Amino acid sequence: MSVVFENIAAGALEELGLKTALEHLDQAAQQAAAEKWSYTHFLGYLLDSEVKAKLQKNVDIAFKMARFPYLKRLSDYEFKAQPSVDSKLIDELSTGRYRDEGRNIIFLGPPGVGKTHLAIGLGSLIAEKGKRVYFSTAVDMVRKLNKAVDENRLHRALQMLVHPSLLIIDEVGYLQLEKDEASLLFQVICKRYDKGQPIILTSNKPFSQWGEIFANDPVMAPAVLDRLLHKSTVINIKGESYRLKEKRKAGLGSMIEGGEKK
Ligand code: ADP
Ligand code: MG
Repeated sequence: MSVVFENIAAGALEELGLKTALEHLDQAAQQAAAEKWSYTHFLGYLLDSEVKAKLQKNVDIAFKMARFPYLKRLSDYEFKAQPSVDSKLIDELSTGRYRDEGRNIIFLGPPGVGKTHLAIGLGSLIAEKGKRVYFSTAVDMVRKLNKAVDENRLHRALQMLVHPSLLIIDEVGYLQLEKDEASLLFQVICKRYDKGQPIILTSNKPFSQWGEIFANDPVMAPAVLDRLLHKSTVINIKGESYRLKEKRKAGLGSMIEGGEKK
């Protein structure tokens, strides 16, 4: 490449905001000359570096915005330790098809069986595609929405929860909600349903007890369940806490059992 055209190319890449391609320009030009690349090979090489960097940036932003409390992978989940979770079903969910179909995923079960682990594992696969995911516990979400009500910006706060490709609402039912708090959670679920945007939700309470979660309101819990379950995959995890099982294996079983009984 002549110096004049290399300068023009550099200027154009800068003007277009193609920073990574610009960084690679010199080296790519030298390599192209040395290895006698075709023009299209050279162009493809240069643009590929730009596209890869852009995708990586999207992924980094997606993970940052997801606010996962910690990172867990599906590959770290021991299916053998939890026979009530069908690994084939999790494999199917890991394709992300549920997201495109607007299908919700609901993990039910006692504490420690891996509901949050699986929710984060699935969520991180969506973030890896550069798509927006948002993770929150039900209580945190409601607290933020309450604050938004006080500051007269509920509409905007709800929009932020409807917008992500995937919303994970963790620990629904751990704390009982007041009626106005339950109504805020209800609105989030309704709005995402209306837009066909999926939710992954975890709860320690069976559906039969969801009336209590929604402040014993006779309308809200059935209306929420109607929307959540319309298109959904429900995974009921049974069995004991993974951590307790691990400790039992380590020979601390009797101590734990003694401590757990109340
Ligand atoms: P839950 O949300 O159901 O209360 P968590 O997902 O928080 O449970 O799991 C508790 C801990 O045990 C986490 O560190 C999680 O990674 C781990 N865990 C639970 N089940 C499994 C499993 N089957 N394989 C590997 N780790 C597991
Ligand atoms: Mg959990």
